[in-house]
Amino acid sequence: MEYLDHLNPPQREGVLNVEGPSMIIAGAGSGKTRVLTYRIAHLIREKNVDPFSILALTFTNKAAREMRERIENVVGPDARSLWMGTFHSVFARILRSEAHHIGYPSNFTIYDTDDSKQLIRQLIKQFNLDDKTYKVNSVLGRISGAKNRLISWQRYQQDAAIRAEDEAAMKPKMAQLYEAYVKRCVKSSAMDFDDLLFNTNILFKNFPDALLKYQHRFRYVMVDEFQDTNLSQYLITKKLAAVHQNICVVGDDAQSIYAFRGADIRNILNFEKDYPELKIIKLEQNYRSTKNIVQSANAIIAKNKAQLKKSVWTSNEEGDQIEVIKAQSDNEEGRLVAQSIFEEKMNNQLENSDFAILYRTNSQSRSMEEALRKMNIPYKIIGGLSFYQRKEIKDLIAYMRYTVNHDDEQSLRRIINYPKRGIGNTTVEKIIVAAYENNLSLWEVIQNPHRFFSGRAANAIDGFTTLIKSFKKEVEQKDAFDAATAIAKGSGILRELYSDKTVEGLSRYENVQELLNAIKDFAESEDVEDRSMDAFLQDVALLTSADESSAEDKDKVTLMTIHSAKGLEFPYVYIVGMEEDLFPSQMMLNSRADLEEERRLFYVAITRAEKKLYLSFATSRYRFGNLKMCEASRFIDELDPQFIKMSTRYGSRQPESMPGQRPSFAGGGSNAGGYARNLVSSINKDRTKSQQRQPSKEHTPSAGFEASDITNLKAGDKVEHLKFGFGEVLEIDDRGPGKKAKVKFEHFGEKTLLLSFAKLRII
Ligand code: ATP
Ligand code: MG
Repeated sequence: MEYLDHLNPPQREGVLNVEGPSMIIAGAGSGKTRVLTYRIAHLIREKNVDPFSILALTFTNKAAREMRERIENVVGPDARSLWMGTFHSVFARILRSEAHHIGYPSNFTIYDTDDSKQLIRQLIKQFNLDDKTYKVNSVLGRISGAKNRLISWQRYQQDAAIRAEDEAAMKPKMAQLYEAYVKRCVKSSAMDFDDLLFNTNILFKNFPDALLKYQHRFRYVMVDEFQDTNLSQYLITKKLAAVHQNICVVGDDAQSIYAFRGADIRNILNFEKDYPELKIIKLEQNYRSTKNIVQSANAIIAKNKAQLKKSVWTSNEEGDQIEVIKAQSDNEEGRLVAQSIFEEKMNNQLENSDFAILYRTNSQSRSMEEALRKMNIPYKIIGGLSFYQRKEIKDLIAYMRYTVNHDDEQSLRRIINYPKRGIGNTTVEKIIVAAYENNLSLWEVIQNPHRFFSGRAANAIDGFTTLIKSFKKEVEQKDAFDAATAIAKGSGILRELYSDKTVEGLSRYENVQELLNAIKDFAESEDVEDRSMDAFLQDVALLTSADESSAEDKDKVTLMTIHSAKGLEFPYVYIVGMEEDLFPSQMMLNSRADLEEERRLFYVAITRAEKKLYLSFATSRYRFGNLKMCEASRFIDELDPQFIKMSTRYGSRQPESMPGQRPSFAGGGSNAGGYARNLVSSINKDRTKSQQRQPSKEHTPSAGFEASDITNLKAGDKVEHLKFGFGEVLEIDDRGPGKKAKVKFEHFGEKTLLLSFAKLRII
């Protein structure tokens, strides 16, 4: 049991105490995940527990994979039969074998968020609702919120109190939308992500035999990141553990960052009530980070009122102070961060993979990417537009999905006329209406097209179903790879992409090849029991944004949102965009609870760093197409000055703070403006005629762009336009309503601009 030597006494207790309910609530980096990992290894190796009877629920599939690998190192290949994964993947698997109970076929489709949004968009249109009142995201958010609180559409319709909030938000048709959404999903034999949990609850509630089977199977149940479970997940876990009562949950209330998705911190408090004999273990030593980082994180979280008291300490070295980088623009911020990474790497002999750049929202990655690219620093983005969201990939997957499940409406819509075969949108809508009116499935309708359609349309549909039937044969007889190859060819997708000889066309073709490679890997992998296309599709549907990475991604800087960084650690961490309205996010300033959630997010971000933490902010930034002046985030000001220092790495201007003095960051609104103006004039001085600007489709305005007063604009003036870039005024036209200027732009040619609207700056 040499592995027990790698644990401190309370951690060891967490590992050895396997019988009965226990809970470990402890701060970041204190080894909670390590305890779970060793606990499972211990159960298998010392307690001879069959891995098949251990269930471990993690936050991402990647976390599950890593845990499994570590356990395998201790116990060998036995670890493969552990039940380990996200709530969604584990319960999707269970639902597949129990689907018949709840009226679903076992090959049901899993709708991703895109599919759900498409469906809601179609319903809003079908109901003739105003899409400004009924925004797709908010409708989906409300449906999802209801499901995660286990409120069915029937209860939603009956219970006025539940509906009140939506009605107050002027959405009186929410109840009908919810009902229609659910019915359309059922008709398509599809479940969305929330359904996987909702339906598991239904299954366990209505079919006690099914519940009993899994209660007996899972003798040991464990949950990581317990603070981010929602009611639906909580009830599933509780039910599963009810017979053996060997349940161990680990988490940190200070890292609860998914309230917006229904995560409920009360689950931690309820847990104590539900299990009176609960053993609570505290871990207080942090092994991840330096003293400076641990103490800063402690001080930040102490500002939140709603939290359990914990003390976290570390015996690690003091470490460097947290370094704050101030930039004049988002582009400069990117450049300074990239330079800093470059230097740290050179000075300390580091790998690219030692670095992570974390941000509040995905869109912030752009300026970071540009800067890293310019400096030839390899990077990977976790999340954002992933491989599986690309059109060509979704198209081929839709063919595969539809072949497996002929009722999948969203896939049918995608492929029935792609590549083109003369089946228009109206025909598709008619198919759906016909299915409803005649109480048939979509497949039944399109299998007998002559009953519903005349001549050409019916023939075209016939052609399509014949194709799908031939694919079905492939899927039934071959493994996922061979079947996918047949579908890629037979559908005409490969031909369609191959005939497009543009650079983009070529890359789409390569992406499809890449997908086929991925399927080949899957079909040949030793870890996979079921190599069918159905199994592959399930895996793909449940990939979370944090899961995607390949062997080629090894030595790269990681870029991701703070949300997806949960549970991870990196030696060097840069938290960028530390500005008011960005972080804390503008949308989260409405209540104390929201602000506290943002602060917990900041706590999560800080505690990802092992050796050194950088914070950066820009005094101006493009947001939603407009240049905005920005103030440093209040979170920087909340840090104790003894733990931070202003970076000597500055943009175009000198820092404002004096050495040894507490740097003042916040309240920099007017200052920021001043800086931006100074910067503009310094740029103006530097700019010469010979300046070579790369032609591009879009102009990147100079940092700190501010429109000038242009009342006295005259022919011959040199100007910069927010969008069109640099140019020269050819003439001023005062006739008619509104003064206009004809300007010849370097890259956009001649334009006539109405001066009262033009965003022009005189150079
Ligand atoms: P988070 O809250 O961020 O999920 P955590 O509590 O799960 O953190 P772990 O990721 O398990 O913490 O551990 C943090 C780091 O400390 C890991 O690198 C882990 O290997 C290391 N670690 C944990 N316990 C010990 C120990 N007793 N001795 C040495 N290193 C340890
Ligand atoms: Mg952890």
